[in-house]
Amino acid sequence: MAAHQEKKTSEERKRKSTQNDTRTSQVQWGRAWEVDWFSLANIIFLLMFAPLIVYYFIMSCDQYQCSLIDPLIDLFTGNKHLSDIWNKTPTLTYRAAAIYTLWVAFQVFLYLFIPDFCHKFLPGYVGGVQEGAVTPAGIVNKYEINGLQAWIITHVLWFANAYYFHWFSPTIIFDNWIPLLWCANVLGYAVSTFAMIKSYFFPTNAKDCKFTGNFFYDYMMGIEFNPRIGKWFDFKLFFNGRPGIVAWTLINLSYAAKQQELYGQVTNSMILVNVLQGIYVLDFFWNEAWYLKTIDICHDHFGWYLGWGDCVWLPYLYTLQGLYLVYHPVQLGTANAIGILMLGLISYYIFRMTNHQKDLFRRTNGNCKIWGKKPEYIECSYMSVDGTKYYSKLMTSGFWGWARHFNYTGDLMGSLAYCLTCGFEHILPYFYIVYMTILLTHRCIRDEHRCFSKYGKDWKRYTAAVPYRLIPGIF
Ligand code: NDP
Repeated sequence: MAAHQEKKTSEERKRKSTQNDTRTSQVQWGRAWEVDWFSLANIIFLLMFAPLIVYYFIMSCDQYQCSLIDPLIDLFTGNKHLSDIWNKTPTLTYRAAAIYTLWVAFQVFLYLFIPDFCHKFLPGYVGGVQEGAVTPAGIVNKYEINGLQAWIITHVLWFANAYYFHWFSPTIIFDNWIPLLWCANVLGYAVSTFAMIKSYFFPTNAKDCKFTGNFFYDYMMGIEFNPRIGKWFDFKLFFNGRPGIVAWTLINLSYAAKQQELYGQVTNSMILVNVLQGIYVLDFFWNEAWYLKTIDICHDHFGWYLGWGDCVWLPYLYTLQGLYLVYHPVQLGTANAIGILMLGLISYYIFRMTNHQKDLFRRTNGNCKIWGKKPEYIECSYMSVDGTKYYSKLMTSGFWGWARHFNYTGDLMGSLAYCLTCGFEHILPYFYIVYMTILLTHRCIRDEHRCFSKYGKDWKRYTAAVPYRLIPGIF
């Protein structure tokens, strides 16, 4: 009887929420971000300076042993001119262009032509054809999830080459790092520009395009939601995961091989970076189907931010610790090494469990157990652009009761662990934690803005129930 009453009340609440005052904003979700001056200034800044930032970091390692200050001192004291630095920078080579073309072509081949077989024998792994989230236009896309397989095949070949075939040196990535940077930029700009042109002339789904009228914003944040070529080549899924994230672990392996070549040994700090980042990358591919429900895939449009970011920013700046350790082979004391390992593993546990709790909660529609109890939640509703009303739930227990983005907190703690492997001699390896803090705080605010547009006053009820964003009691 009580349950029946509760159901009736909840249905009434759902009906009433159709008329709530957030109706206008709700149908705008996914496309309501206004291009204010601050956003525009940030966008133009990033378009102009992000490629230079990447160049500066890599050049600092190449020419200044990873010191970020020394190039500036040289320039300000007149010891060197910009042209001196530029002239010492390796240029694009045929060899790098061939390596890069082969690399991307191989990843396209693995993505498009080898349907997933991992889900057939790996218990618990979700692969093969999977559905994404409902888009603002009410479309549900299908994806071929075969990233884990692509990662395994690529790495098996890498090790087969390193220990058996010897077609190329395992230091190949490090040895061509700057020429490869130019190739990655060419691809990053080409794909972002192509995506922009495509959205005007042959969009995959015109209803899911977001034209703000501002060229820079559109180029940076993207117009098309899920650009595709043919039925299966999905730009977001491909560029987000491959080639950048498959390359991440290979890049680290190449750095380890370089340490071995230069110093005759691989330091424990390098092993820690390879292991901790390896877990993160493997986790990404193991959960690729879950990833379809994360912000990158189900909310962001495809523009320079994702296209160039995945090709250049991610492989070059997420791997700075390994690069640094080639120039500064830090050997950590046992206590420090164990401390960093523990921090990395605990962070990973928080990151994974928080994501898992939300995934389980959403998949079972709340009919599950979180920390041994039925989860608590707030019921909410939203509308797609065609006026169809959908219902959803926001969990307020487990890690999601501690803070609204405790998964980001775990991610940030893990990022700190990677940086700590490098000791405290230089600031360059700490760029990652600074960047991740900015990225995830901004992402948190961006996501909350979107969720408010989507859920309206239901979102307000949620923020009242879970008042902190990242750190309980502080922020
Ligand atoms: P989340 O996985 O936190 O997804 C946010 C979405 O989850 C919201 O938009 C909302 O979507 C839904 N949601 C929010 N609160 C709740 C709740 N209480 N209960 C149920 N659903 C809720 O964010 P991301 O997609 O950004 O991140 C996924 C992971 O990827 C994170 O762990 C993050 O750290 C990591 N990441 C790593 C990056 C890197 O560069 N290393 C970059 C970006 C992310 P809905 O509309 O469905 O309600």
